[in-house]
Amino acid sequence: MKMPFYALSLEDLVNLAKAHKLPPQTSRHMFNWYYKKKNIFPCVLHNFSFEAQRVEKELLDFSLPAISSLAESEDRTVKFLITLADGERVEAVLIPFQKKYTVCLSSQVGCLMKCSFCFTGEQGFKRHLKTEEIIGQFIQIQRWLKEKRPDDHKILNVVFMGQGEPLHNFDAVKKACEILICQWGLSLAGHKITVSTAGYLPGLLRWKQEMPDVNVALSLHSVIPEKRDSLIPLNRKYPLAEILPVLEQIPQGEKRFVTYEYLVLKDFNDSEDEIHQLGSLLKDKKAFINLIPFNPYPGSRYQRPGDDRIFRLKEIIESYGLPATVRTTKGHKILAACGQLNHQTEKEVYLT
Ligand code: SAH
Repeated sequence: MKMPFYALSLEDLVNLAKAHKLPPQTSRHMFNWYYKKKNIFPCVLHNFSFEAQRVEKELLDFSLPAISSLAESEDRTVKFLITLADGERVEAVLIPFQKKYTVCLSSQVGCLMKCSFCFTGEQGFKRHLKTEEIIGQFIQIQRWLKEKRPDDHKILNVVFMGQGEPLHNFDAVKKACEILICQWGLSLAGHKITVSTAGYLPGLLRWKQEMPDVNVALSLHSVIPEKRDSLIPLNRKYPLAEILPVLEQIPQGEKRFVTYEYLVLKDFNDSEDEIHQLGSLLKDKKAFINLIPFNPYPGSRYQRPGDDRIFRLKEIIESYGLPATVRTTKGHKILAACGQLNHQTEKEVYLT
């Protein structure tokens, strides 16, 4: 049985090379070749040694999931439907930011968390993605970008905010992050990668010891326990009071902070009083607040507040000395915005 190449960290590949009496630089060479050259310029030839070519051919499997359809919106956001080897499908989104891009990756097929405002949760949980399926989303999108938009093909940020709860699939997400930041691999800066969690405590507890130095974001959405329970059922098992102290231990270095995402739902969690409570709770922490106006989807039970409301809430947060931004909604016409990913909408949304 061949090993999936895109599941290997550089360290794994060095160990494999060692077992075949190849020097460690062969692994770096191979990593560099596949991640920086071959995937982007498919015709270039390499000069691996004879034995390295044998390992490449006989022991490694380079297959990738396929882009089966995509939808482009007027604002240049692109939603990709990606089909995995077993026929399961996930979505990934390319979000433009000036001449660069953020890629939003999925970590699971469906999701177990069943948050009451999220379209993905309605799909139920099918399975975890493997590392090579996570890295495969990135590579396929990078290739598409290079081919279709060659003038502005740089991917700047990666966010684990697609389908799934990334910390529920800790091992695969961790290894994908290692490959993304490896200088011989995809070479992204750690602070350009953000893993967003609904507050999955077992993963947060492992983070400090095991995760590479990437950013953490918590889907907060309410500081009132009963309300957070009703939005994120996981809160009943791992309440905020238990999560926050663990989370605050994560950021490394002076400039790092925890991002708290606050989904704003009209007449549910958008009162000034609630935002004052949020300000009081977070005011002395290394926190950055990202307000996300709710993105509706077919059958959703919440509503999106007006812009005035959102900007008033931002002012209140800032009055506590906390930095806050409002997430601009991109790609909502093609159901590619946060919480709108659910491949069952394929027929309505995808171009064929
Ligand atoms: N499971 C992870 C990552 C996926 S969701 C998490 O919970 O953080 C990524 C972000 O989109 C989260 O902050 C999530 O709360 C938000 N989101 C989910 N549904 C949404 C919707 N309908 N409108 C706007 N944001 C949504």
